[in-house]
Amino acid sequence: MKPPPHRASDPGLRRQQFGHVVWVHCPQCDGPAKHNALGVKCIRCGYMTIPVIKPAAVQWARITISDPRCSHCRNPLPDTSRPLARGGDENRPVVRVRCPHCAKTMAYPARAWSAPSRASQQQPRRLKPYLTAQVAGNLLMVDNLAHLSALETYLGAALRERGPVRGLTMMARLPAWMKSSTNRAKILRSLRQLADRASKDGIDE
Ligand SMILES: [Zn+2]
Ligand SMILES: [Zn+2]
Repeated sequence: MKPPPHRASDPGLRRQQFGHVVWVHCPQCDGPAKHNALGVKCIRCGYMTIPVIKPAAVQWARITISDPRCSHCRNPLPDTSRPLARGGDENRPVVRVRCPHCAKTMAYPARAWSAPSRASQQQPRRLKPYLTAQVAGNLLMVDNLAHLSALETYLGAALRERGPVRGLTMMARLPAWMKSSTNRAKILRSLRQLADRASKDGIDE
């Protein structure tokens, strides 16, 4: 870990301008899922909400056998409709499923099926943020890696300066407990732990 800079200035961005996604808990496997304007997409189990743009362009299929299991680790696989793919010797219909337990993506024989239920096409109502930590009785919430590293730089600096942008930037809106110097070491430690957890979980942006 590199030492925090002595001084840092407010980059002047709004919170939603840091990064392109917000990491949330997958509603299906609880793993890390990207949330953006197109919907939610889990990087662990493949769960996704369907972008409303052209749902008809996708053909849907489901693993042929009931109670499917991962052909690598034998753990149960989520049994939902997925986009149809082609594979194997005779170009048979398959779906590619990433196992939530061992993370291996394999192709499984599939048959045509209806699109996922409307419930899963809509965005789940309550998405829980993924990169969170308790710091001195407060909830620290980080949207993504760009947000995390901006906080690390700004909060780590002994001297924090206003940037070129006036008004309610993300940094200007930080709650007092985050800016307080008594919490600084704790916050920086939590941000480091979140960064480690993010990289272990395959969070890459
Ligand atoms: Zn998932
Ligand atoms: Zn597996």
